[in-house]
Amino acid sequence: METTDPQRHDAGGELSPRRRTLLRMVLIGAHLHEGEPLAEARARKAEILQIFLGDPQGWKKPPDRSADTRPLTDAGIGLYVHAPYLVNVATTNNKIRIPSRKILDQHAEAAAALGARGLIVHGGHMNDGDDPRVGFDNWRKVFERAHFDLPILIENTAGGDNAMARRLDRIARLWDAVGNFNPGFCLDTCHAHAGGEELLDLVDRVKAITGRIDLVHANGSRDAFGSGADRHANLTDGHIDPDAIVAVCAAAGAPILVETPGLREGQGADIAFLRERLPA
Ligand SMILES: [Zn+2]
Repeated sequence: METTDPQRHDAGGELSPRRRTLLRMVLIGAHLHEGEPLAEARARKAEILQIFLGDPQGWKKPPDRSADTRPLTDAGIGLYVHAPYLVNVATTNNKIRIPSRKILDQHAEAAAALGARGLIVHGGHMNDGDDPRVGFDNWRKVFERAHFDLPILIENTAGGDNAMARRLDRIARLWDAVGNFNPGFCLDTCHAHAGGEELLDLVDRVKAITGRIDLVHANGSRDAFGSGADRHANLTDGHIDPDAIVAVCAAAGAPILVETPGLREGQGADIAFLRERLPA
């Protein structure tokens, strides 16, 4: 029987994704590396799913994924697309920057055609000794040259000494360059921790810069604070206090994706962990 009272649903796990959207509950899901999206989403009780369209380490134009993502979106499960890891639109290296722009544009077009809610792209980095101002300006050019038909969500990254979006001082300079174009922001808890940003009050400090958080990547970290290493752990493992991850998720008020190990079992447990602790 239908009810409009969200308190009637204890853990919220029985609600359809559409219904949770109507009730403005936070949507929780996972990054899927392989498998049939709808079946894998259901196995994890995921309400949203993030995928790579093609090889995350490749430069190729993304394949058409509409045949396997349509059942997902038809079922009301929101899709996010993550750009390949190779994409670095900030770098002074033409051999990387130019193909990065090209596959970013191709991914944005393909992801928009799939009805994706956003395209996530890492902030990128400069070579040692390069002036980061050039990198921020290269980011500005990305938005100046292209018109995107879906939100582009710039994600903070864990490592490197000359990264564009590792620490908040750089994110502030990046937003000075691109803020007029209204990009989105994706906050990754593992990357923040490993990158050297405390999770306490992080959401407020990010929002003071970007004005928004569009997506949280809720991940544990296999490495110590400030290590610069990007190795995700399940939420109750690793070096980050799980309560601190929950606090970031609660404060952000944005959809949440786990990019954690363990496939159906591990990711499903992480989703259940968050769902139990976040306000229904
Ligand atoms: Zn991430």
